[in-house]
Amino acid sequence: MSGLELRNIVKNFGAVEVIRDVSLEVNDGEFVAFVGPSGCGKSTLLRLIAGLDKPTGGSIAIDGKDVTAIGAADRGLAMVFQSYALYPHMSVRENLAFGLENTKVAKAEIEARIADAARMLEIEPFLQRRPGQLSGGQRQRVAIGRAIVRRPDAFLLDEPLSNLDAELRVSMRAELAALHARLKATMIYVTHDQVEAMTLANRIVVLRGGRIEQVGTPLELYNTPANRFVAGFIGAPH
Ligand code: ADP
Ligand code: MG
Repeated sequence: MSGLELRNIVKNFGAVEVIRDVSLEVNDGEFVAFVGPSGCGKSTLLRLIAGLDKPTGGSIAIDGKDVTAIGAADRGLAMVFQSYALYPHMSVRENLAFGLENTKVAKAEIEARIADAARMLEIEPFLQRRPGQLSGGQRQRVAIGRAIVRRPDAFLLDEPLSNLDAELRVSMRAELAALHARLKATMIYVTHDQVEAMTLANRIVVLRGGRIEQVGTPLELYNTPANRFVAGFIGAPH
């Protein structure tokens, strides 16, 4: 198959089982949201997909190839963090280029990709600035730009908007939807905001205590929640 396949993923931290037998398939180009209360394992699951951490059990395949033992750099994925994780001593341009410079990507191609991402995200005026000279929304755009220039097969986004004020969150939501339509890349999007998930995602994965409670389209979850927990979380009548 093509896409991402998680099979019976388990993750323990010490004696604590944080991810409990999670199996899931994500199709190429799909926008999937992981939702659930704080501590339910969303970030842990995303880090396992990214290859930033190894599962205790189970396997992960990308485009039919088992990548469970393969490191983050070789998975063709790019992660965007809530905290932006930009390098404060580098300019925006340098932040975007970092990670591409010691790869096979030619210098002219790097420049072209930076120009393209900067245009798409409207951060051209800030390319020479340092992250400390940017607003939160501008920093988050740079963090997304840094993922875009890598031309990943999939974007893994961990609560990318949760540090922004409410108004900006709503406008960035529309930008993310437009970006997904334009890039046609797979997006796996962690959020604790059900409105974000309902408006952005093709499918929503509801997690609770390290397990999947339900997977479905926003409409399916709204119309036929599997239980009261899902209904409560999605805001559906129950
Ligand atoms: P979420 O992103 O849904 O809020 P996390 O995936 O961050 O949840 O965390 C799930 C659970 O795993 C929490 O109980 C958290 O304390 C625990 N946890 C996460 N990372 C670690 C770690 N590196 N070491 C020990 N426990 C961890
Ligand atoms: Mg988290």
